[in-house]
Amino acid sequence: MDALTNHELQLGILELDHAIYLHDQWFRNLLKVLIAHVPAELADLCVDAHLHCSFGKWLAGDAARLFDDRDEYVALQKAHEVVHSEARKLLQLSVNGLVIPPAEWDFFERCRETMRLSVLSARDRFAEVASNRDPLTEIQTRRGLLTELRKQQALVERGRQACALALLDLDHFKKVNDTYGHVAGDVVLVDVVQCVKAHLRPYDRIYRYGGEEFIVCMPDTTVEQAGEIMDRLRLSIARLDFEFADIQVTASFGVAALAGSMPVEDAIGRADRAMYEAKAAGRNRVVLQR
Ligand code: GH3
Ligand code: MG
Ligand code: MG
Repeated sequence: MDALTNHELQLGILELDHAIYLHDQWFRNLLKVLIAHVPAELADLCVDAHLHCSFGKWLAGDAARLFDDRDEYVALQKAHEVVHSEARKLLQLSVNGLVIPPAEWDFFERCRETMRLSVLSARDRFAEVASNRDPLTEIQTRRGLLTELRKQQALVERGRQACALALLDLDHFKKVNDTYGHVAGDVVLVDVVQCVKAHLRPYDRIYRYGGEEFIVCMPDTTVEQAGEIMDRLRLSIARLDFEFADIQVTASFGVAALAGSMPVEDAIGRADRAMYEAKAAGRNRVVLQR
């Protein structure tokens, strides 16, 4: 889901809402066939009925791009297929004038509920991610930061790996706004975030911690390694070109370990102190808190 823009995320939520509506509509039609004995849709009697309903067409097509967890996607496809195969059994009984045994109806309802919950939980996750996204830079905000850092810390505690945190703060950023205006300042923030992302590895995460302050979480990385990565990033930020003016933007970095033995808030505090040391030492530098 990280790869989706804020706009794509919003579209994804609308699509999931519509998909839920479509399948509820299919269910209402099914009830009409079973109760009022209107003719069944031929497609619902086919072995591949799940591919003919509107929800199924969406699931097999456009929906694929929304799921970065393959297992979740495959599980949802399976759950949907089972709903249709159970519905087909009910339809065959009804078409042949037979009574539907209550146990068969209950099983069908359980299958339908399982599928519905899978779609709703995907929708909830989308909404959660969207509400944690920064509208300007499209990265995660500090909402959710502590929860995610605690997950990383749990891995550190189990002795699996080291994890490093970096806090970076743009230097004299107020002057950029004061000289070129806030729109230009916004462009700088977006470009800096793109630059940071280009330096991160697949499991690294960046968060907008405050206005021009960002936190980078680097799993499986020692403080020294993180220091090297941040120093390369520091040089790249200083080399960024901006269309609106010939300015150099720099950042100060503080790096600390996300140790298993201390609260994550303390690790952020240590990275913050190191960042202030970098400011005090002249800015545009990386300070490691060992
Ligand atoms: P220092 O080197 O000590 O960090 O100086 P600074 O000027 O960067 O720090 P200061 O805290 O004085 O100013 C931060 C500025 O960041 C002020 C604020 O207007 C600006 N800022 C925060 N969020 C945004 C934003 O979303 N867009 C723009 N354009 N500016 C922002
Ligand atoms: Mg600041
Ligand atoms: Mg600043």
